[in-house]
Amino acid sequence: MTLRDAQHLCWKNFRKINDVLDKQRGNGWTPFVMVTDLLEEAGEVASVVKGLEGFEPSEKLKTKEMLAIELSDLLYLIFVLAEHYGINLEEAFMETVNDYILRFIK
Ligand SMILES: [Mg+2]
Repeated sequence: MTLRDAQHLCWKNFRKINDVLDKQRGNGWTPFVMVTDLLEEAGEVASVVKGLEGFEPSEKLKTKEMLAIELSDLLYLIFVLAEHYGINLEEAFMETVNDYILRFIK
């Protein structure tokens, strides 16, 4: 699966979920809500990494599997937001990777 395929898959699923939520609640996810959720997921990633690095109480044990789930949650929302604004994230990502290479590896 390419990043482009993943972006389309997330968008397709997001639209179905959003339609259900729209019917149930009378309002679906707007870009503002998407960004809010994206930031919430970023916080969950931070919380798991904090735990993995020993900065959380032991009763809140964090695992790599939890990190994988939180990173996937975050990626899903990044794909959805990109698709909402018609951004080809695969192209943008490759440009970013090339920029990093040019900037740090000479
Ligand atoms: Mg999450």
